[in-house]
Amino acid sequence: MSRVLLLAHTPEPERTVASAAKLCYSPSSIETVREGLTPEKTASFVEMLAQIGHESPIEHAVFTFGIEGVSRSLLAQITRHRIASFSVQSQRYVREKAFEFVVPPAIRAIPEAADEFLQAMEEDQRHYESLAAKLKEGHTKKLMAEGMDEKEAARKAEKMAIEDARFVLPNACTTKMIVTMNARSLLNFFSHRCCNRAQWEIRDVAWQMLEQVKEVAPHLFEKAGPPCLKGPCPEGKMTCGKWDEVRQRYKEKFPEAKA
Ligand SMILES: Cc1cc2nc3c(=O)[nH]c(=O)nc-3n(C[C@H](O)[C@H](O)[C@H](O)COP(=O)(O)OP(=O)(O)OC[C@H]3O[C@@H](n4cnc5c(N)ncnc54)[C@H](O)[C@@H]3O)c2cc1C
Repeated sequence: MSRVLLLAHTPEPERTVASAAKLCYSPSSIETVREGLTPEKTASFVEMLAQIGHESPIEHAVFTFGIEGVSRSLLAQITRHRIASFSVQSQRYVREKAFEFVVPPAIRAIPEAADEFLQAMEEDQRHYESLAAKLKEGHTKKLMAEGMDEKEAARKAEKMAIEDARFVLPNACTTKMIVTMNARSLLNFFSHRCCNRAQWEIRDVAWQMLEQVKEVAPHLFEKAGPPCLKGPCPEGKMTCGKWDEVRQRYKEKFPEAKA
């Protein structure tokens, strides 16, 4: 089960963005730019930026998330977002003693499919362990033949072994990561990944992220989410056609949001 935690963010994210916007449009100095930025003024600056499409000032607000219990498949998708920073637990250095895995809900719902899936995971684990052992033995022998003492050779061989044994680990294998994005990149991320067209796991993560940033920067993320919240679906013939359902779900999740 995926877990998302907003670990850190720019202090006063909306006031920081409003300061950047104010500096663009007023003769303020850097010492005075934050003066008079009451919560109301800050909100109105942030909303004005969204209205006129001046997006660069919102890059000054940055958010860092911890994400765990997600699959390597999600990792492949989330790292496609280039305007972001990622730190991911390495399979090269962390041995998968008994690796955890994500079971897609549709597979879990069909007992025969769930059984087969479980068997595949157990088989993968067996191959991983067996390959790691064979590789470790081979590398240890080679390193010792090259003159390394047994303890050091075994330590080095273990690292070399898991580096290659991991090639048999499945996409379902869980991973954890720290992700940092600025607010502009997050708006783009939410637009793509909160959409019903996004794959279920990354969509679930995106909605958890949205929920948490809305708590700390409600005006910045007031209009964040799939494009169909604001207007017609841009997906053409790929549309899910369920914009009414999406809008309704959004209203139930964020009852305080303006229509
Ligand atoms: C429903 C769905 C299906 C998808 N299917 C596929 C698929 O089948 N195959 C596939 O490969 N990917 C697929 N993707 C991934 C998608 O193509 C994007 O790579 C991903 O969503 C990241 O979006 P992005 O480029 O906007 O984000 P970022 O990389 O964070 O970029 C943000 C924005 O910066 C600008 N930008 C960044 N880099 C450049 C650049 N080099 N040149 C110009 N502008 C740039 C763009 O305006 C971009 O929107 C899919 C995504 C979704 C949501």
